[in-house]
Amino acid sequence: MGAQHETLAFQAEVKQLLHLMIHSLYSNKEIFLRELISNASDACDKLRFEALADNGLYGDDPDLKIRVAFDKAARTITISDNGIGMNREEAISNLGTIAKSGTKEFFNKLSGDQAKDANLIGQFGVGFYSGFIVAKKITVITRRAGLAEAVKWESAGEGDFTLDPAEKAGRGTDVILELRDDEDELLSNWKLKSIITKYSDHITLPILMKKEEWDKDKNEYVALDEDETVNQATALWTRSKNDISEEQYQEFYKHVAHDSEPALAYTHNRVEGRQEYIQLLYVPQRAPFDLFERERKNGIKLYVRRVFIMDDAEQLMPQYLRFVKGVIDSNDLPLNVSREILQESRDVRAIREGSTKRVLSLLEDLAENQKEKYAGFWKEFGRVMKEGAGEDHANKERIAKLLRFSTTHNDTEVQDISLADYVGRMKEGQDKIYYVTADSFLAAKNSPHLEVFRKKGIEVVLLYERVDEWLASHLNEFEGKQLVSVAKGDLDLGKLEDEAEKKEQKDSEEEFKDLTAKIKEALTGKVKEVRVTHRLTDSPACLVSDQFDMSGNLARLLKAAGQQAPDSQPIMEINPKHPLVTRLKHEEAKFADWSRLLFDQALLAEGGQLEDPAGFVKRINEMLMASAAK
Ligand code: ADP
Repeated sequence: MGAQHETLAFQAEVKQLLHLMIHSLYSNKEIFLRELISNASDACDKLRFEALADNGLYGDDPDLKIRVAFDKAARTITISDNGIGMNREEAISNLGTIAKSGTKEFFNKLSGDQAKDANLIGQFGVGFYSGFIVAKKITVITRRAGLAEAVKWESAGEGDFTLDPAEKAGRGTDVILELRDDEDELLSNWKLKSIITKYSDHITLPILMKKEEWDKDKNEYVALDEDETVNQATALWTRSKNDISEEQYQEFYKHVAHDSEPALAYTHNRVEGRQEYIQLLYVPQRAPFDLFERERKNGIKLYVRRVFIMDDAEQLMPQYLRFVKGVIDSNDLPLNVSREILQESRDVRAIREGSTKRVLSLLEDLAENQKEKYAGFWKEFGRVMKEGAGEDHANKERIAKLLRFSTTHNDTEVQDISLADYVGRMKEGQDKIYYVTADSFLAAKNSPHLEVFRKKGIEVVLLYERVDEWLASHLNEFEGKQLVSVAKGDLDLGKLEDEAEKKEQKDSEEEFKDLTAKIKEALTGKVKEVRVTHRLTDSPACLVSDQFDMSGNLARLLKAAGQQAPDSQPIMEINPKHPLVTRLKHEEAKFADWSRLLFDQALLAEGGQLEDPAGFVKRINEMLMASAAK
């Protein structure tokens, strides 16, 4: 152990965060107390958890508590806890670096616009460093439970911090803030108490402050040698719904979720029966920056009979609901439950199923009764809910109803159309739900595959997000209607086509038989088949994949992600009414070039990449020059 004086530099991201925070959160500076009390509370939870295995850690100080004190003369505020404390290494890594995944990406997102950044920083969770909003120097004296020596960490919140050996009577942590010059307002019992009741009332441990009394002679308040508890100090979720105000629910949310904005919605229930547990679950307003990071944390804290057991209890919520935050407090699980046990436990499975249903009910309620809120939810979390349609078989139908899409009905990128809306608008004789997949909204909206659908006024769902291919492969029907890709297999519009159209199609197949065979030969190795289509009205050609082949879009997505995709060849369909196609019938010399052009532009139109872009440009130019010369 290095028991020497040492000066260390902050990780670059910490420096960046400190700088931004001090400037952009200044208008909301009181939150520093919430953050430090929250850390003190977490430290006590950790001690209680470690003590389950080693009761000796409590020593002769078993009552966990937090203390907030101030010293007018020294101009300091001190937040103390008798929680787990930190050893030297822990102090260095916890108070000198940011361990969260996605930190770099987070900083890349910052815009320099203070209001916007303040919001992002709030989401990121400012934690300990928020002390520097009001303090010009922070001293942390901490002693880890079970160790004799303490360590002193000190910093002015600029480039570096120092470490020194220190003395401390008991385990836990004192965080001493030496206030900036204009923060005297905080050096008041009344002020601190009001901040604590506002932001930290829900903390389960007692938060103690010295009682004060009016001194007539001195004409001011003086501190007595007596403590008072300034918060309610009960676990919020154990209280009855009627006794909890909206503000209390929201403050508790900010504590569990490390979010600066209120939650969008929440559900609080006491479940009785074979399994007894309480769930208080929140849906945030905004997706966290690391929603799609592989090693991101899940948001559920597990308690057993009021004792904190673990953060990030991923077994209590399915993957696709990873954005849900909150607390589950079980009456039945053993106190010494481990992650391994959680994985195996049938009780846990029952809790997860129950909680999933609660969240889905909450979302259904929003979708039904608070459409605007639901639209906000969908914008932030829609992509994750789509994962659910493939992941959660038991609730597939409920999830399918919650999905929202862009469609050709209004051609906007705002996804606000449900499958039920779609079905309600289906044409007479239509028995399928049609969709197109592409890699961007514009590519989907302008896809040549939609031409006949637009002509006939048949609505098509536009799928253009990464997760959509996965969704489409798992969601095969909705309310008895098959979901069908407009770019796969033979186009069979069933009753949506009349006899005359069917006959016309047959006739042109006959008429173009020789031509399609000739094009196929010219495109050997590129296409599986060439055929006449009635899909197209404006474009000369398009590519479709065979019924059971992978779609071109999915194959490209997989390849872009460095994964294997089968090299299946597409089918090229040509529009018998298009002048370029009819002209091909009489083309001899340039037939191969023209065929290749048709293929290349069909590939481009669906977002594919040309094998030989220079060759394509050359052929186009030759054609343009030939027509200019006429
Ligand atoms: P977060 O709480 O989001 O992890 P912070 O920056 O607030 O981020 O704190 C960083 C880490 O420092 C905490 O995760 C914890 O390990 C440690 N820490 C902070 N305050 C305390 C404390 N009072 N007692 C023990 N450890 C603490």
